[in-house]
Amino acid sequence: RGKKAFVAGVADDQGFGWAIAKALAEAGAEISLGVWVPALNIFESNLRRGKFDASRKLSDGSLMEFVKVYPMDAVYDSPEDVPEEVATNKRYAAAGDKGFTVSECAKNVEADFGKIDIIVHSLANGPEVTKPLLETSRKGYLAAISASAYSFVSMVQRFGPIMNPGGAAVSLTYLASEKIIPGYGGGMSSAKAALESDTRVLAFEAGRKYQIRVNTISAGPLGSRAAKAIGFIDDMIRYSYANAPIQKELEAREVGNAAAFLLSPMASAVTGSLVYVDNGLNAMGLAM
Ligand code: NAD
Repeated sequence: RGKKAFVAGVADDQGFGWAIAKALAEAGAEISLGVWVPALNIFESNLRRGKFDASRKLSDGSLMEFVKVYPMDAVYDSPEDVPEEVATNKRYAAAGDKGFTVSECAKNVEADFGKIDIIVHSLANGPEVTKPLLETSRKGYLAAISASAYSFVSMVQRFGPIMNPGGAAVSLTYLASEKIIPGYGGGMSSAKAALESDTRVLAFEAGRKYQIRVNTISAGPLGSRAAKAIGFIDDMIRYSYANAPIQKELEAREVGNAAAFLLSPMASAVTGSLVYVDNGLNAMGLAM
């Protein structure tokens, strides 16, 4: 039986979410997506117009299919949390009456598929990411934590009950949680630290309650849409290339493969782990 996977945080074919979906599809999983509401329209029209067809190509020559694409905004847990100005916003109103909050997504997925096996959290947002922590507002800091860390807690809370025992969750984190990475601001470093700590606590709680595993991948730099918004991604890629034990550019596919492993029965005893997929850069003390 093919595993059923819900991948949150795909809006084009450039990021880690896409690469994870693709690695899961290669392994025979059935993929549904949760796409951020403001990006939904453009994603669906690009998909329809064949813009992603080259990246959809699987090794057997077929194209990766998404069985369903759900509108999602992971900063809201249930309809009561959605402010009036968001609910009435053109794009959000166009998302339909089945809702886009995390609990509604889980409910919609359950109605369409019953129980699922895999959830992927490949999303982050920090409105003040370009500001140093010394200049970050409370609002910006809390927004980063809400979109980038609590969103994962919320997903495990809401999707846990609709997951089969033996299922697994994975998220994406970054080294800035544990080492100083100047430029990764706005409370995003704090959000990643929270996400990593929550990975351990959720592994325990959801492991006991739902028999599912929870892991996170600390990925090296990739020139995704989100990363380009931070502004220094090209420098990070160059730095990693020059200083990591393995001197090559990180491919999203490599993170996709590691995620597919963590989400598969091959990793049945791996939970609460932070796995580095970064060409080993994290292990360096002094750059050489
Ligand atoms: P990306 O732009 O492909 O993915 C981020 C996604 O988050 C986008 O699709 C965006 O639409 C979505 N999103 C933002 N706010 C949302 C919300 N409120 N609700 C639902 N979706 C929302 O970029 P990416 O770099 O592949 O990012 C994926 C994950 O990888 C993130 O957690 C990021 O922090 C992490 N990561 C990235 C790098 C890197 O260098 N690119 C390195 C380490 C970790």
